[in-house]
Parts: sequence; C-alpha cells; structure tokens
Amino acid sequence: MIRKRVYSGIRATGRLHLGNYFGAVKGMLELQDKYDCIFAVVDLHTITVPYDPKTLQQSVREIILDYLAAGLDPKKCNLEVQSKIPQHTELAYLLSTIYPVSRLEDLPTYKEKKAQYPKYINMGLLYYPVLMAADVLLYKGELVPVGIDQEPHLEVMREIARKFNSMFSSTFPEPQRFKTEGEYVPSLSGGGKMSKSVEGSYINLTDNLETISKRLAAAPTDSGGIGGEIAKSGGVENLFALLKLFKLDDEYRKFECDYRDKKIRYTELKEVLAQGIFKELKPFQERRKQFKQDPRLVDEIIKESLVKCRQMAEETMREVRKKMGLV
Ligand code: ADP
Repeated sequence: MIRKRVYSGIRATGRLHLGNYFGAVKGMLELQDKYDCIFAVVDLHTITVPYDPKTLQQSVREIILDYLAAGLDPKKCNLEVQSKIPQHTELAYLLSTIYPVSRLEDLPTYKEKKAQYPKYINMGLLYYPVLMAADVLLYKGELVPVGIDQEPHLEVMREIARKFNSMFSSTFPEPQRFKTEGEYVPSLSGGGKMSKSVEGSYINLTDNLETISKRLAAAPTDSGGIGGEIAKSGGVENLFALLKLFKLDDEYRKFECDYRDKKIRYTELKEVLAQGIFKELKPFQERRKQFKQDPRLVDEIIKESLVKCRQMAEETMREVRKKMGLV
C-alpha cells in the first residue's frame, strides 16, 4: 500500500524556538511514525529576507541538529536541505506560470514582511508561497505539519494543485495542514506570534535555565492581577498559554486563583514556568550535544536522505514536464 507523503520545512534564520517546536516539530514527530515524511531546512526561503551568506551553511546545520535532537529519526523520515534539490525551483517556476500575481500580493505574510523590511522587498518574497507550494507538491505531499500562520500558504498550495490538475490532468493532491495543540505560540513581548526574526519574542530550544529566566523576566505583565477572567490579549494571557502548553496544569490553576484574588506574583509564575520549560528542553539539549560531537554521522544522514529525496523529486518532475508539453 502506498503511504501518504508528508512535507514540512523550517527556515535557517536562527535556532529553533518554542513556536517552531509546538507548531511544527511536534507534528513532525507524530507523523514520522505513520507516513513517508520529508522534513526540510528551507534555505531558499531563508534568503528572501536580509541574511549573512557567510553564516548560512552553519545556520542550516544548526537546524538539522535541532531536528535530530528533537527526535526526528532518519530511519523513519528524510531530512532535506532544500537547495540541494534543484527540482524545487524548477517546479516553482513552472507553477508560477499558472498562478496570478494579484493573489500573492494580497497574502498577509507578504504584507508583514514588506512592513518589516521596507528596503528588502524582492521578487523572492512575493514568490515565497509558490516555492512553498512546489516544496510540498514536488513530493505529492498530502499532510503539512506547520503552524496556523501558514494556513494562507496552504490555501495557495491547494489552489495551485487544483489549477494544475484542471489544466494538465489529475497530478497533485490538495495538501492539508496537520494541526498541533500549539499551532500558535504567542510572542513573549506581548503581541503577535513568537518568531525568530523578532528579538525578545522567543525562547530557543537550546537556551539554558538562566537564559530562559532572563527572557521570561523581560515579558510584560500587569500590576499584580486585575482580577476576573484572564485578559484576552497581552503578556499575561501569553504566560498562561505557556503554562498550558508545558502541561503545568496544577500551577495554571493556582496562578489563575491568585490572579482572580488579585494576589498574583508574576516573578513566582515566571520562575515556575522557566523550570517547567527547562525540564522539557534538557533531554533535547543533551541529545543535541551528542549529535554535534559526531559531524560524520550527521553528514552521512544528510547524504543518504538526499539520494532518496532526489529520486522522489525527479519522478514528479518527469511527469510534470511531460504533462506541460516540455518534453
Ligand atoms: P519563524 O517565523 O520563527 O522564522 P518559520 O517561518 O521558519 O519560523 O516557521 C517554521 C515553522 O514553525 C512553520 O511551520 C511555522 O508555522 C511554525 N511556527 C513559527 N512560529 C510559530 C509560532 N509562534 N507558533 C506556532 N508555530 C510557529
């Protein structure tokens, strides 16, 4: 029986943070046991925002180490470095010829990035969702474990798949997002999502207890509990959301009571949270050290996956080139 394919990727813009972990990696871990999975470091997406070419290779490596340490198992899934499979860009170009520019200009992530880097608005940024569609469709991926922020891109992917199928006959599945409990991890700074590119918003999986405590200490709160229900937005709500994600349920209930009684002490909450986060991250950090000490093993894992990914990718491309009349 042919198993469903799964594809997901993370940009090499820094170390993995809790948002990546809950929104994407946890889903990957769940799916690697059931399906044929390809999990990528999407370096071609990384270069659409300002970056340092001198450190890019190292950043790619760091994400691979994060993946392995988090428990992605090369015996169960393939680890891909996107730029090593040129079929991604070939398919992206072909798909771009059947998709309207106006639709891409309207996407929220494009607008956000434009506002964030007003001097770095490039074609690649606009093209990002088309390349992302090509990433998944290249492997005929049906499930995509990514955070909720990626939902508009999944919609683009399905539109492209439908358009291609109607123009050139049934070829691609319509990929669905695989949702996790932590599909949206809020920023520590009080507004928006936790993101690598927003300083002060994140906790990295490699952070030690001291750093975690420091990052949490900087998170905004209120003046000691205003009573009633937890506010629907802002720093306090986010701290409670993190307690829940780390399954600190007893602590959640205790601080909720303190909050209602207007006697909450945020330093205490942040300390409890820091300990809880570090406890979950510690085994990850130990495994990471081991992989880092064995670069040849990591090289071997990347090489073996690459051969398998190339085969799958070329199979789809042969079909696509033929259907589009290019051969
Ligand atoms: P970042 O925004 O930190 O640069 P990426 O754009 O590389 O992260 O996203 C990698 C994956 O992590 C995607 O699946 C994305 O949906 C997920 N992700 C990123 N931030 C969050 C978050 N705050 N909450 C949940 N998932 C997230």
